[in-house]
Amino acid sequence: MKISENFRALTPNYLFAEVAARVAAFTAEHPQKNVISLGIGDVTLPLPECVVQALRAAAEEMGEQASFRGYGPEQGYDFLREAIAGYYAGKGVKLNTGEIFVSDGAKSDLGNILDIFPRGMTVAVPDPVYPAYVDANIISGNKTVFVKALPENGFLPLPDKSVKADVIYICSPNNPTGAVYDAEKLRLWVEHALATGALIIYDAAYERFITDKALPTTVYSVPGAEYCAIEVCSFSKTAGFTGLRCGWTVVPETLAGGSVNAAWLRRQCVKFNGVPYVVQRAAQAVLTPEGLRAADEHIAYYLENARLIAGALGEKGIRFFGGENSPYIWMECGMPSWEFFDKLLDSAQIVGTPGAGFGSGGEGFFRLTAFNSHENTLAAAERIKRL
Ligand code: PLP
Repeated sequence: MKISENFRALTPNYLFAEVAARVAAFTAEHPQKNVISLGIGDVTLPLPECVVQALRAAAEEMGEQASFRGYGPEQGYDFLREAIAGYYAGKGVKLNTGEIFVSDGAKSDLGNILDIFPRGMTVAVPDPVYPAYVDANIISGNKTVFVKALPENGFLPLPDKSVKADVIYICSPNNPTGAVYDAEKLRLWVEHALATGALIIYDAAYERFITDKALPTTVYSVPGAEYCAIEVCSFSKTAGFTGLRCGWTVVPETLAGGSVNAAWLRRQCVKFNGVPYVVQRAAQAVLTPEGLRAADEHIAYYLENARLIAGALGEKGIRFFGGENSPYIWMECGMPSWEFFDKLLDSAQIVGTPGAGFGSGGEGFFRLTAFNSHENTLAAAERIKRL
């Protein structure tokens, strides 16, 4: 038996395993010390009540002969696609339901979308960034070029004319840096893609964390993006769906004369059988006024945590990025990031994520997250101030 050579090119993904191992070793040695994790990359608040009610009601429907449902449409039920189109209409973006594909979350489609493009293409990926883009492209046998996100560009790299890529990944708000593109910078990427014929894959998984009304929450707020961009989004961080699993991908019918939309529909019909009916009903509940209010309460809770951490770092005069419009804070640690991990754990019993785990451009930086409770975050902020 032979596996694809591409899998050999993957580097071992040891980041969170190594974090867990170091924390376990520390707590074994110091069982009396209270370790606080600001390394959590997952939501911690439970599902909003209206979402749970929608799940219950849909489960009841599935248990009745008259309302039972088997296979659904691969691209999602119309009720959810219409609700997503309505969500975009609220942002001033008009989409047809045929352009919206319901998914089991952003991660799957961010990699699966590569199925419809040629192998061996060149893909531009920001560095540092969510590691799944690079690995999915290695598996697909593509060539990755890195677009350096640096403190000097506010971790918001702009197009470099020397970089020729078939596909460009953009993540805004960015994981791990928390940086968010403004409309003007995003317009430069769209113009670059239109001029070079590249496709933008825009990851908007954290869009609901953008509370600054001046910042774009979708790539389609930039004119022309409907001719060069696919947008991938998720209910995971918006409404606590990391365990429930639901998201969507927008593939405009204007992209390459509709051929990309048609190819993606074909691909999904071959390899995907849709998201469970009950989950789609739960996702629909998120997009009601009540659901969005509940989601925003959760996000406000996390953003308050981010403010607490940012306040403590600010007080200490430590340079950081993010912390507003994002659940992530990206702090300069002034030493190799794994060394800082050990130092922070040892001196303050705080766990974070070494920047080196998000690409070589993350070295010298450290990610703190807003997903712990207020109480723990407050305690961690006090510890940072006392350091
Ligand atoms: N995109 C980014 C930037 C993420 O950080 C994550 C998860 O942490 C995902 C996508 C995955 O989202 P989902 O749960 O919808 O698969």
